[in-house]
Amino acid sequence: MTFSSPEPPLQRLFHQLDQAFGDLDWWPADSAYEVIVGAILTQNTAWTNVQMAMVNLKTATKLSPQAVMALSRDKLETLITPAGFFRQKARYLHGITAYLLDHCDGDIARLCHGPVEDARKRLLTLTGVGPETADSILLYAANRPSFVVDAYTRRLLTRLGILQGRESYDTIRQSFMATLPADATLFNQYHALIVEHAKTCCRKLAPLCETCPLLSSCPHGQQEVTL
Ligand code: SF4
Repeated sequence: MTFSSPEPPLQRLFHQLDQAFGDLDWWPADSAYEVIVGAILTQNTAWTNVQMAMVNLKTATKLSPQAVMALSRDKLETLITPAGFFRQKARYLHGITAYLLDHCDGDIARLCHGPVEDARKRLLTLTGVGPETADSILLYAANRPSFVVDAYTRRLLTRLGILQGRESYDTIRQSFMATLPADATLFNQYHALIVEHAKTCCRKLAPLCETCPLLSSCPHGQQEVTL
């Protein structure tokens, strides 16, 4: 992927990360509905907990929307207990699955049809679907170009001095959307690169700045290595 020259900071960052980590295949899911389930279950919890809940759900329902809908609320809560906030998340899962079946005939492309911002507004009307969940569903379940912002994104951009740190979710998302071509493959790769970098290098505590490929353009990292 090439951009115009000279590169704005978010384009330069993409190239630096892409060069360092290469192509990544991200959001671990076998189906679009599994992405939706994962996007709900991962709210306020670590992915390792989500995986345990997902195994339970897959065993019980093969992750078919109809089978999830056929579960009693109690049963669904029990299956997803490892993901935490299980009562709330069971309500959210039944809500979005009912909408998918009743209004979209179970078709996730229909759930996310039309202009991206319109589809996003539609998703945001569903209980339990906030901006990050809506963008994850659009990008990873429906392959629509909607940039996903998460805690890793905010941390990295703040350390790099691109953000001050208090910007709203929508302001950060808009920075990416306004700078990059509307390309779902690019957005997918960019978010995956940020996650990979955050996990392997720009960790919350004790970031590995000395070996970071971004050190030369990172004020926070340069401060860390001179301490
Ligand atoms: S230099 Fe350090 S703080 Fe800066 S991006 Fe790299 S790991 Fe993060």
